[in-house]
Order: sequence, then C-alpha cells, then structure tokens
Amino acid sequence: MKAMVCTSLGKPLELQDLPLPKPSNDGVVLRVEVCGVCHSDLFHARGHIKGTNTPFIPGHEIVGTIYEMGPDVQGFSVGERVIVYPVFTCGICKECVSGLEHLCDKWYPIGWKIEGRGIDGGFAEYVHVPNFRNILKVEGLNPEEVAPLACAGLTALHALYEAQVHPDDLLVLIGVGGLGHMALQLAKNLMNVTVVAVDIDEKKLSLASKLGADYVINSLKEDPVAFVRKVSGRGADAVIDFVNNSETSKIAFQMLGRGGRHVFVGVYGGVLSIPTAFMVGGSFRLIGSFMGTRRHLMELISLYKRGIVKPMVSSKFKLEEANEAFNKLERGEIEGRSILKP
Ligand SMILES: [Zn+2]
Ligand SMILES: [Zn+2]
Repeated sequence: MKAMVCTSLGKPLELQDLPLPKPSNDGVVLRVEVCGVCHSDLFHARGHIKGTNTPFIPGHEIVGTIYEMGPDVQGFSVGERVIVYPVFTCGICKECVSGLEHLCDKWYPIGWKIEGRGIDGGFAEYVHVPNFRNILKVEGLNPEEVAPLACAGLTALHALYEAQVHPDDLLVLIGVGGLGHMALQLAKNLMNVTVVAVDIDEKKLSLASKLGADYVINSLKEDPVAFVRKVSGRGADAVIDFVNNSETSKIAFQMLGRGGRHVFVGVYGGVLSIPTAFMVGGSFRLIGSFMGTRRHLMELISLYKRGIVKPMVSSKFKLEEANEAFNKLERGEIEGRSILKP
C-alpha cells in the first residue's frame, strides 16, 4: 500500500510502498476514504512537539470502509463505512469507566508517536485500527464532511463543554481555523451564546461572520481585550484559545470577566505568566482540554445529521500531495479543513 511517512522530523513526508497491515484479533483494517489534515499532524511532523518519534504515518481524522476484520470483532461487517475515534485506551481504569477515557494514563494516539506510544494513521491507503471499539458507523454519510468530526469537531465540542457556557454568556473564540469554525457553529446553533471571533486573517473572519459570529475582531488591527470589555461591560464569561501561544493565551486571560473560564486547546506552545493573587478575586478557572470522548464523537455525528454542525472542507488533496497540504496549512491558507483522499 502507498503511505506518506514522516521519516525524519522537519523533513517532507516520504511516499513509501508498505505491506498491507493484518488485523489483530479485535482489530479492523480500513480502506481509507478520507483523512483530515490537522495542525497537530503538522506540528508533530515538523518536530514542534517534544517527544515525537519517527517513523510514523500521520493522520487521525479517518473515515474508511472495513477491508478486513479480526476474528473477535463483533457488530461490524466488511464494506461498512466507519469513522475512527482517535484516542485508544485501556477501557478498565477509573477514568475509562467514568466516561473520561481521554484521561486514561494508558492512552495512545493514532497518527503520531510520542515517547514510544502511538500507531500509524490515515495518510495511507489502508490503516489498522487495533480495537473495534474505536470505530463508529457512519454509513450513508458524506465521508469528506464526516472525517473532520474525529478531531476538529470532537475537540471543539469538548472544549465548549469545558467552557460551561450558558445562553446569556459572552464566549470568545481565538482562531477560526479547523477547530474554531466548528466550535463557532456549535456555540451558535447548539448553545446559543454570544460569540466574539478573534483571528488575524480577514478571510477566516469573514467565514466566522458567515457562520454566525456576533462580532469579529482582527487582533492585528484592533485591541481584542478592550473590545471584549466594551461589548460585555465586564469581560468574557469564557474564552477558548485554539491557538494557545504566549501571545494569545495572554490576551485570553486578560479578557476574562470575574468567574471567567479560560480553556486551552491549541498546541502551538508558549508560556503564560499569571499574578497568583489576582486569581483569587477574579475566581478565574484555567482549563486544559484534550480531544474528547467517544460519547462526544457520537453526539457530533448526531449533530451533523441534524445540520447543527457541518465541517467546511475547502481543499482536497491526493495522498501524494500531503506535503502541499502541510505547506498550505502552515502558511495559514486553509479555510475550515483540508482533507486527503488516498
Ligand atoms: Zn487533530
Ligand atoms: Zn483507561
């Protein structure tokens, strides 16, 4: 099978011809129909995330059809279209049995390898999913639109739940990219909150307006902190930072009204320094939010079916064009999500 492999961090992915994977007893091999291209694929391949191991095949927003099944797989059949829940867990620890499997200490990812954990992902013609509990049926749904639900949608929905927003709240979303454009739809269509969208790209801000943002702010041209304070009268009830570098996290924290929730999602990396006593009077809550649960993915599929959320897929690439997809994403030229079609 053909696959785009990260053989060395910071170098372009390499097209390789690899043997077809065989399914484990509980596993399935999928013929990949669509794989979304996420910022974290890029960050891992570029070596921006400490501890990334090579070689690995990127791609964790996978929709495919079942090509071969292990003997212990139940409830699925060959040829069915499924989406992959990208967090693999032990299934028996306290976190797993409480529906918090994204916090399982034994977790490992698909589509990147870090500190010796992780398995190859969907930038390939076929992918091995080692546990059938990590696939969900999406028969009859458009694979191009469904694939981005697996990470971008999942992470956005979970972050919104962590932000604990109510309909009379003011929510600020920093970054209207793959995750942000889905969080915006969910915030408006599902939670009905007032949304301020912040970005540095006019195209992304006009997409935010189209998707229903109440206010859009270009933080290169206008001070987003002053704007939010003026609009709300007291600061934001919640801020979700989909970029999460030293600059954006500082802006996010400064925007918070008393009791405000600051949700950290992006993996750009940076440092936030906070006066500790200030936390007391402000009663702020700082919340890191990592991906989401299988239940969140089930909810998303149901929300997608009802038209509450629809990933905007602006660019489609062949498998061999994965490096071009990475370069465009790096230059900020992708609106919504881009996908590979192996
Ligand atoms: Zn992702
Ligand atoms: Zn566990």
